[in-house]
Amino acid sequence: MSVRVRYAPSPTGSPHVGNLRTAVFDWLAARKYGGQFITRLEDTDRDPKRYKPEYIREIEESLIWLGITPDEWWVSGGPCGPYIQSERLHLYREAADALIARNMAYRCYCTEERLAEMRAQQQAAGTGTGYDRRCRWLTDTERLRLSEEGLPYTVRLAVPLEGTTGYTDLVFGDVTFDNRTVDDQVLLKSNGWPTYHLAVVVDDHHMGITHVIRGEDWMPSTPKQVLLYGALGWDQPVWVHIPLTLGSDRKKLSKRHGATQFVDFIRMGYLPEAMFNFMVLLGWAPGDDREVMTVAEILERFDLNGIGRNPAIFDYDKLRWMNGEHIRRCDHGRLAELCRPFLAEAGIIGDPPSEEENETLAALIPLMVERMHLLSDAPALMAPYFRDPEEPDAAGRRKWLTGSDARSRLTACVEAFSSDGSPLTAECAEETINRVAESLGIPRAPVIHTVRVAVTGTMVGPGLFEALAVLGRERVVRRLQRAQEWVVE
Ligand code: GLU
Repeated sequence: MSVRVRYAPSPTGSPHVGNLRTAVFDWLAARKYGGQFITRLEDTDRDPKRYKPEYIREIEESLIWLGITPDEWWVSGGPCGPYIQSERLHLYREAADALIARNMAYRCYCTEERLAEMRAQQQAAGTGTGYDRRCRWLTDTERLRLSEEGLPYTVRLAVPLEGTTGYTDLVFGDVTFDNRTVDDQVLLKSNGWPTYHLAVVVDDHHMGITHVIRGEDWMPSTPKQVLLYGALGWDQPVWVHIPLTLGSDRKKLSKRHGATQFVDFIRMGYLPEAMFNFMVLLGWAPGDDREVMTVAEILERFDLNGIGRNPAIFDYDKLRWMNGEHIRRCDHGRLAELCRPFLAEAGIIGDPPSEEENETLAALIPLMVERMHLLSDAPALMAPYFRDPEEPDAAGRRKWLTGSDARSRLTACVEAFSSDGSPLTAECAEETINRVAESLGIPRAPVIHTVRVAVTGTMVGPGLFEALAVLGRERVVRRLQRAQEWVVE
């Protein structure tokens, strides 16, 4: 099976997570079946209120970040370029002219005012909306006169007036529609720019697209495009509409539910492989209970026929959980690298970090993986290991740094930890704490808690002995000494 698939974003908004899911399916189909993944910029809507060049950068950033760099796109070019619709205007004009020559399309001279009046009348009469086809029935003489007057015109598709047309969707099965329900849609606007329907069909044809994979919300457009393929005498691609993505209340996913812009997930500290994993499960299932999968595992099981029809629910808690699972599977060196920008941004390490900071980070990663859900958890979790805490948290202080017992525990610890000059290992830290507890004749738990609050400023954290080893003897002793000032009597 030869497969050429395309992702066709419009730079009229920051790329949406549901939209990028299409790109993930495209990429998988191309890789699975040995084809090409193309990305084309659909930039024919140039309304400055919507169109913004920064959205193009965000589309590029998101694809590269996800690791699904297209085989052909405007960034690297390719045999079917240009991959930007605004640079392909002549192709749309050519197709429109060919349709007019074959009476499959016609020039419409109706003005905006006339169309508005027509719509108002239709509304008042309660009849169906849509163009009343006035210009379709112009006589040759009328047509010639209007053309000689040089009036602006749009080009409309002459939709068959009766009969039915059908297509097969890989997910939704056979779809048949009555041609009478389809409007004589505008293909070319009076400024010579194409509408979405014309541009998408012309480009998909010229770029050799075999499968149109897109969201179910585009299904209402498909009849128009199927008719256009027929009118142009071109073979249709295979249609693959992937089910809608809804919020937990089964309403269209929107900002009310949480982040929807893809770049926000990048900034929040999700891993590319977790986003990839999560997005592919919005519509596709591997056929067993497995959920956490690497890209390679997904690719091995992926099959376009495995896409279901039921709407997918975007569960933010599940995404967070899944990210934690991927964090725990991540190579520690890479995880440290991924955490670095978050720590630098929070001012916890330098940019670039010092050698010592890099060493501390490398040592901290194995201690922290169990506690992390997002990379952005790193600053709060790791800050105490890079900077001496300014003060202990109130509850910790009340519980473990209050009274003469706390003071003697601290004093004994300062002495015990500074009595030895060897590098502090976890074993050595444990042994020292045991020794202190023994000498004071108390269980070791209060000693552990006191040391934790004194050294990290908080009552929670990873295993204390390992944490002390990461900090090193010098810092531990310094912090224990300083904590003596925190003790309240
Ligand atoms: N430009 C459309 C979009 O913004 C493409 C729809 C399609 O895939 O046909 O999503």
